[in-house]
Amino acid sequence: MDRIGFIGLGNMGRPMASNLYRKGNRLVVYDVNPAPVRVLAELGADVASNVAEVAGQSRILFTMLPDSAAVDQVLAGPDGVLAYAERGTVIVDMSTIDPRVTDRLAAAASERGIAFVDAPVGRLASHAQRGESLFMVGADDATFACVKPLLEAMGTTIHHCGPVGSGMRTKLVNNYLAIISCQLNAEAVALSQRFGLSLEKTLDVIHGTTATNGQLKIAWASKVLKGDIEPGFTIDLAHKDLSLIVDAANAAKVPVPIAAVAREAYSSARARGYGAKDFSAMVDALCESAGIEKPRLL
Ligand code: NAD
Repeated sequence: MDRIGFIGLGNMGRPMASNLYRKGNRLVVYDVNPAPVRVLAELGADVASNVAEVAGQSRILFTMLPDSAAVDQVLAGPDGVLAYAERGTVIVDMSTIDPRVTDRLAAAASERGIAFVDAPVGRLASHAQRGESLFMVGADDATFACVKPLLEAMGTTIHHCGPVGSGMRTKLVNNYLAIISCQLNAEAVALSQRFGLSLEKTLDVIHGTTATNGQLKIAWASKVLKGDIEPGFTIDLAHKDLSLIVDAANAAKVPVPIAAVAREAYSSARARGYGAKDFSAMVDALCESAGIEKPRLL
C-alpha cells in the first residue's frame, strides 16, 4: 500500500508518471492503451490489468484522463476506484473536466472516507516531460500538504487555489485565455501571410509590443512555426475545454461570446481532419481553408 497509483498515460500522464517514478516513488499504473503502459513497465513501474487493481494497491491515486466522461467512469463507474479504494485513500484528478463533475465526485468520495483533490495542469506537454508543470490545486489544507511533495516531483509551480473544485475552475479561466489566444494568433498570422509580409519581421514586431502572448512566443515557436503539428495538446482537447468553459460560464450567468465563436472555429478545424493535431495547427487549418501558404520559420 505504499505504492502510488496512476491511471491515464497519454501525452501528459506518461511523462508525469515517469517523473514520479524517477524521483523514487513506487508506482502501479494502468491505461486502456497498452503502448504507454509498456514504457512505464520498462522504467520499472508495476502494471495493473484494470482500474480496480490500481485502487486496491495504492494509498494515493492520480488520474490524467481526457474528459469528464472518462474520469466519471474510472472513479465512479461500477468497476471504478470508489468501489475498490480503502478508506483514507487520496484521489488526485489532474484531468481538465467539468467542475460540477469534480464537485459531485468529491462528495461521493467523501461519503466513503476518501479524500479528493483536483489538480489540473498548466503549461505544455514539453514542460511535463521536463518535470516543469504548473498545478492549480483544490484541496483542504491537510490533503494539500500530503500531495504537495508528489506534485513537486512532476512540476515546479504548485498553486493552492482554495477548496476542492477551485483548481478546476482556475484551470478553465486559464485555458479560456490560452485557447482563444491560439485562434486570435491564427487569424493574425494568416492575415500577415495573405498580405505577403515577412513572417520573421511580423513576429519581431509583435513580440516587441503588448500584442504578444505566450502561445505565440513560446508554444508556436517550437511547434507549428517549426513545422511540428503533432501534439502536445490536441485541437480535440482544446475544443472540449471551450465547451466546458461555455457551459460553466453559462451556468454561472457569465456571457462568453468569444469562447462560443472560438469553439466553432475549433469545430471547423476538427471537421477538416485536424482534431488529433496540436492546437497551434489552428493556423494551418485556417490557411488551408483560405488558400494561404502555411506559416513556417526557416
Ligand atoms: P491523451 O488523450 O493524450 O491521454 C489520455 C489517456 O487516457 C490516453 O492514454 C487514454 O488511453 C487514457 N484513457 C482514456 N480512457 C481511459 C480509461 N477509461 N481507463 C484508462 N485509461 C484511459 O490526453 P492528454 O493530452 O494526456 O490530456 C489529459 C488531460 O490533461 C486532459 O483532460 C487535457 O485536457 C489535460 N491537459 C492536457 C495538456 C496537454 O498539453 N496535452 C496540458 C494540460 C492539461
